Amino acid sequence: MAYNYDDQNIFAKILRGEIPNNTVLETEHSLAFRDIAPQAPDHVLVIPKGAYVCFDHFALEASDAEIVDFTRAVGEVAKQLGVQPGESGAGYRLLSNAGDDGVQEVPHLHVHLVAGRPLGRMIQPAR
Ligand code: 5GP
Repeated sequence: MAYNYDDQNIFAKILRGEIPNNTVLETEHSLAFRDIAPQAPDHVLVIPKGAYVCFDHFALEASDAEIVDFTRAVGEVAKQLGVQPGESGAGYRLLSNAGDDGVQEVPHLHVHLVAGRPLGRMIQPAR
C-alpha cells in the first residue's frame, strides 16, 4: 500500500522550525519533545525526522539507520527522564496511535512516552 504523508501536519511544522517545541532530545534522525497537553507528569513525544505517517510505515520503509536512531532515542529519553524501571519502582508506558481506530490525531509517526505516576490499565474495557 502507498502511504500518503501530509507535510502540513503539526509535527512536520515543528520539524521545519515553523512551530516552537520543548525539545528533550535531538539526534540525527529523531526529535523528542514534550507533549503540549501532558497526560502525566512526564509526557514526551518521540518522532522520526523522516516523513512517516505511522509505525508500520516507518517499520516497513525507514532505513536501518533511522530505525536504530529512533529506537535509541526512545531509550535515551527514558534515561534522561530517570524513569527506567528499577529499584525506584519507576517505569513508563510507550504508545503509538495509528489511523482511525487508533485515534491518531497527528499523521506523523510519534511514540508517546508517558511516566511519572501509576498509569492504570492500558485499555479501558469496552462497555
Ligand atoms: P495522537 O492522538 O496523534 O497519538 O497524539 C497527538 C499528540 O500531539 C497529542 O497528545 C497532542 O497533545 C500533541 N500535540 C498536538 N499538537 C501539538 C503541538 O503543537 N505541540 C506539541 N508539543 N504537542 C502537540
